[in-house]
Amino acid sequence: MSEHNDGFETRAIHAGQDPEPITGAVITPIFQTSTYAQPSPGDHTGYEYSRTDNPTRTALQEALSSLEGAAHGFAFSSGLAAEDTVLRILRAGDHIVLGNDAYGGTFRLISQVVTRAGITWSAADLTDPAALDANWNPATKIVWMETPTNPLLTVFSIREIAEVTHKHGAKLVVDNTFASPYLQQPIAHGADLVIHSTTKYIGGHSDVVGGFAATNDDEWAQDIKYLQNAVGAVPGPQDCFLTLRGLKTLGVRMDRHTENAERIVEMLLAHPKVHTVLYPGLDSHPGADIVQEQMKAGGGMISFQVTGGIEAAKAVTTKTRLFTLAESLGGIESLIEHPGVMTHASAAGSPLEVPDDLVRLSVGIETADDLLADLNNALDGI
Ligand SMILES: *Cc1c(COP(=O)(O)O)cnc(C)c1O
Repeated sequence: MSEHNDGFETRAIHAGQDPEPITGAVITPIFQTSTYAQPSPGDHTGYEYSRTDNPTRTALQEALSSLEGAAHGFAFSSGLAAEDTVLRILRAGDHIVLGNDAYGGTFRLISQVVTRAGITWSAADLTDPAALDANWNPATKIVWMETPTNPLLTVFSIREIAEVTHKHGAKLVVDNTFASPYLQQPIAHGADLVIHSTTKYIGGHSDVVGGFAATNDDEWAQDIKYLQNAVGAVPGPQDCFLTLRGLKTLGVRMDRHTENAERIVEMLLAHPKVHTVLYPGLDSHPGADIVQEQMKAGGGMISFQVTGGIEAAKAVTTKTRLFTLAESLGGIESLIEHPGVMTHASAAGSPLEVPDDLVRLSVGIETADDLLADLNNALDGI
C-alpha cells in the first residue's frame, strides 16, 4: 500500500495499484467490461457503467493524481479530449488567454472549436507577467499555458503567472506534457489544474493515446467529473492498463531522456550548420532561473534552427537513420520532425506561428553514441 509521503518512483509503481482484492493479482487487471451486476436497483459496488467509472481507469487516475500532488484526477481518451472536457466548464462570453507558443492541436481547439460556443481567446507572451497584468481582459476565466512550450521550449514562471491570474480571480491551467510530473509538478507552484497528453512521456512507449486532468479545486473537480461522464471522452481499460504500465518507469526513462538530450545539445551547439539550439537545461536559456525554480532537469525535447532555411530543415529530417520522421514525442524511440509543416501547420499565419528553419527532436533512450552519430551524419549531409 502506497503512502502519501512515499517517493515519486514508489508512488508511480504503487499509488492506486494495490493487489486486486479478489484474486491477489499484483498488476491491476484490464477490467474489460462495460457494466457491473447490481444486487438491487441502484445498489452497486461503486461501479455501474464503464463510461462513468472503470477500475482500471480508477487505478490510473489515482496513480497520476498522486504524482501531480492533486486530490482529484480524470483520465480521457486523448490529451485533446481532456482539454475539451475541461474547457466545457466555460460559458458564452468567457475569455481564454493562451500562451503564445503551444501545441498546434490546442491552438486549433481553442481558436476554431471552443469559439463556436461564444468563448473568446487571445494569445499572450507569458514570459512577461507584468504585461499580462497590465493588459488583463476582465472576461478572462482561464490562462492556459504549456511550460516548456511546444515546440520552442520557452519556459514560463508558473508561480508568477499564477499570481497575476489569481489576483484577477481567474484560474491557471498548465499543460505539463513536455516536462512530465517527474520533472515538474505545476500545482505545487500555484497552477489550478494540470493537463497531460499521456500519449507522450507518461505512456512513454508510443503505443497508446490518452489524456489526463488533475486539480485540487473541489468545485472544478466536481464539474469535470460530471462532464467526464456527461461528454464521455473516456479511455478504454486496455489503454488505461498500457498507460499505467508506462507510468511505472517514468522516473528512470526521464533521467535517461535527459542524459541523452544533454549530450545531443552539446553536439548541436558545436555544429556549423546549426545557428540556434533551444533547450531548457541550458545555462544560456532565457528561462534558466525559472527552470532552476520549477524543474528538476531539462528533459528530452530539443528544438534547433539550421542555416539554409526551410529546405535545409526539411532535409535534416529525411537524412537520419535512427531518429524516425514522425509526429508525437516522449516515447523510448527517438523522433525528428519539422513543426512548421507537421505538428504546427495549423498555427501558420497566427501569433503562434513557428520559424520555418526549426527542427524538433524527441530524444529517446537508445545508446547516446548512436544517436549522436546519426544526427551528426544527417547534419553533415545538408
Ligand atoms: C500531443 C499534445 C497534446 C494533445 O494530446 P493528444 O493525446 O495527441 O490528444 C496536448 N498538449 C501537448 C503539449 C502535446 O504535445
